[in-house]
Amino acid sequence: MIYLDNNATTPLDPAVLESMLPYFKQYFGNAASHSHALGWQAKAAVDHARKQIAEALCATAEEIIFTSGATESNNLAVLGYARANRDFGRHLITVATEHKAILDPCQQLEQEGFEVTYLPVNSAGLIDLKELQAAIRTETILISIMAANNEIGTLQALASIGKIAKTHHICFHSDAAQAFGKISLDLQKTNIDMLSLSGHKIYGPKGVGVLYIRQKKPKLQLQPLLFGGGHERGLRSGTLHVPEIVGFGKAAEIAMERFEKDQQHLENVRKTFLSTLQKEIPELEINSPLENRLCNNLNLSFPGVSGEALMMELRDLAISSGSACSSASPEPSHVLKALGFSKKRIKSSIRFGFGRFNTEAEILKATDLIIKAIDKLKS
Ligand SMILES: *Cc1c(COP(=O)(O)O)cnc(C)c1O
Repeated sequence: MIYLDNNATTPLDPAVLESMLPYFKQYFGNAASHSHALGWQAKAAVDHARKQIAEALCATAEEIIFTSGATESNNLAVLGYARANRDFGRHLITVATEHKAILDPCQQLEQEGFEVTYLPVNSAGLIDLKELQAAIRTETILISIMAANNEIGTLQALASIGKIAKTHHICFHSDAAQAFGKISLDLQKTNIDMLSLSGHKIYGPKGVGVLYIRQKKPKLQLQPLLFGGGHERGLRSGTLHVPEIVGFGKAAEIAMERFEKDQQHLENVRKTFLSTLQKEIPELEINSPLENRLCNNLNLSFPGVSGEALMMELRDLAISSGSACSSASPEPSHVLKALGFSKKRIKSSIRFGFGRFNTEAEILKATDLIIKAIDKLKS
């Protein structure tokens, strides 16, 4: 099996697994147990991971809240911030191509009396900053715009958006589950108030995430989603999953160490993959932008061939038609729809997500299999 679905999840880095194992075995303490060494060891491990992730963002450890994943982080940011600040205004701004873990909480808020503006995007998936400016009202309290899109890889202009938010004193949240480890996220330089991260998108474990919350005055107010022991500064009650947190910290550290190496590798792989396919399949349509984008993915349409049929033919390739997160619904991708593509083009689309562990040989094998499958399906 050649794994080309690295935007859905990534394999665990072997070094990450090694870092986690002692915390499943001998160091099993509860990080909130203050009365014995097993608790202190667990707390020290969590503190270390918190620092590793903070360093990757140029943030401080106090600004890192551990959650069960980017889905929870997004829910906590959007629902938690809106509910705690409803007296200051009931309007939010987001984008049509966001992950469902942003769009669905926004819909929930609409049920609760909030209004949400869903900004459109151009054919490259980018918002128009003038449209963002124009959407801002006196009652706007939150702007949530993802850093990198999970289906097409578009990178939004975070620095410019951050400036606009700051000028208008509006809180700015960004879903960076895909961007973390692939673009530089220096929160000293960029005005982002809250940022969502996920462990399993950076060769870490599934089921762990982070919500970064900027320390500022006055303090950002969020209403928790979970109540209980008051863990994570009262924002996320529940016993911390120490092994996963340790693994996420290690994965973040490795991502920073390998930043340039990974980026170069992914760019090379993506270019080889695309140029090889283009040579053999001249009618190929590229649905994702070629510039201003994530280094690791491509969204392509194969005219005259349905994406489903192609995937059935390519049993040895792990690929997907759009986002795994909404694969429960067979609806055509809301992201490709927002780009303005026809139903036909969307139906023939496939997302390819490359990763750290893909080799050049695998990539060439994959293109070979795709070219043969297209020939077969067309004849
Ligand atoms: C994967 C992903 C999520 C969800 O993260 P989980 O940790 O799986 O909950 C949210 N947003 C984006 C952009 C993603 O790619």
